[in-house]
Amino acid sequence: MLPAASVPANATPSTPSVPAPATASRLANVGSSPVREILALTARPEVISFAGGLPAPELFDVDGIRAAYEQVLKDAPRQALQYSTTEGDPGLRTAVAARLTARGLPTEADDLLVTTGSQQALTLLTTALVEPGGVVLVEDPCYLAALQSFGFAGARVVPVPTDDQGILPEALEEIASRERATLLYLVPTFQNPTGRTLPDERRAAVAAAAARHGFWIVEDDPYGELRYDGERVPWIASHPAAADRTVLLGSFSKVMAPGLRLGFLRAPAGLRRACVIAKQAADLHTSTIDQAAAARYLQDSDLDAHVAVMRSAYRERRDAMLEGLPAALPEGSRWNSPEGGMFIWVTLPEGYDATALLPIAVGHEVAYVPGAPFFCGEPDPGAMRLSFTTHSADEIKEGLQRLAKSFVR
Ligand code: PMP
Repeated sequence: MLPAASVPANATPSTPSVPAPATASRLANVGSSPVREILALTARPEVISFAGGLPAPELFDVDGIRAAYEQVLKDAPRQALQYSTTEGDPGLRTAVAARLTARGLPTEADDLLVTTGSQQALTLLTTALVEPGGVVLVEDPCYLAALQSFGFAGARVVPVPTDDQGILPEALEEIASRERATLLYLVPTFQNPTGRTLPDERRAAVAAAAARHGFWIVEDDPYGELRYDGERVPWIASHPAAADRTVLLGSFSKVMAPGLRLGFLRAPAGLRRACVIAKQAADLHTSTIDQAAAARYLQDSDLDAHVAVMRSAYRERRDAMLEGLPAALPEGSRWNSPEGGMFIWVTLPEGYDATALLPIAVGHEVAYVPGAPFFCGEPDPGAMRLSFTTHSADEIKEGLQRLAKSFVR
C-alpha cells in the first residue's frame, strides 16, 4: 500500500460506474451525411461554394430590421421582452394573413400559427400527425431536413416519382391506392433541391388525390416569392378539393433573414390546435421580440420592394450560372432553368458520380451538393444541386471555370 502522502489531493475514491443509457433508437432512423464533412471544408474563403442554401447576406435589409427592433424596444420594451402566447404575435399574424389574402388565399390571423422557422412547422406537424410506422409520401428527390423530421418520428417514407415538373400525379394515384398514407409532403414552387415548379393542373390532381384517398397535404413554400420569370402558380391550399386538408408553410428566411427564425403554418382549426399543443412542449412560443420586430418591419418598411431588389440580383446570378453551365459540364449533362428560387439541378451523364467528384471539385476550390442524399428511392449518382444566390455573376463565372476542371479525365 502507498503511503497516504503520495495519494494526489484531487483523487476520488473509485466507485462502480454503470454506463449512462444510449441515445434513443429514433436517432437510428436518421443518418448523418458524409458529404457534410467534405462541405465543412468549403467554409474556406477561397472556395466558391454553390453548395449552401443561403440567401445573400449583403442583400439583408439591415437598416430596416435594425430600425424595427429599435422601434419595438422604444415603444413596448416590456411587452417585447415578456413571455407571450403560443399562437404568435397578433400583429404579425394579421400582416401575414393580409399577404396571403392579397395573393389569392383568403386567410384570417386566427388561421395561422407562428413557428420558429418553417422547419419547426415540419416538426410540429410530424409530432401531431405521424405515428411510428405511419406512411409519409414525399417527392423524390426531397428536402433533406424534412426527411430527417419524418425519420425521427419513425415514419415509413415512401418516395413518389417525379419528372422535370415535379410529382407525377399518376404515380401518386397508384401509390396512394395501395398505401394508407398520413400525409404527402411537397415543395411545389422552386423546390429544394431541384428548383422545379409543379404546374397548376398537377396541383389540382394532387388536391383531388388527397381528397379521394384521405391524406393531408403539407405544402412547404419558402421560395415562392423569389420568382424571376413567368406567372405565380396558385397554392395547392387554394384548390377547393383539398382546402380542408392542406397545411401551407411559409417562412421569412428567404425574404427577410433566416437568422430571425420566423415562419408560419396555415392549417385547418383542429390540426392547428394540435400543433399549438406540440409547440407548447417544444418552445412555448417563438421569440416575442423577433416576432414584434418582424411585425413592425412589415408595417414600416416595404417588404415587397425589398423582395424586388433580391429578385433582380438573384435573376442576374441565375442567368450567369445558366450561361456558364454549357462550358463547365461534361458533354451529355442535363440541367433545368428554374423560374425562381435558389437552385439549379444538374444531371451528369452516365458514368459520372457527383459524390466521388466532390473532393476533386473542393481541391479546385469550388463546391456543390451531390444530389444522391436527397433521394429516398433509387439515387441518381450523377445528380448535383447548384445554388446561385450567394455569389456575384463574376464569381459564378469563375466558380464554373473551376468546376470544369473537376471533370477532366
Ligand atoms: N423547407 C424547405 C424546402 C427549405 O429549403 C428550408 C430551408 N432551407 C426550410 C423548409 C426551413 O426554413 P426555415 O428557415 O424557415 O426554417
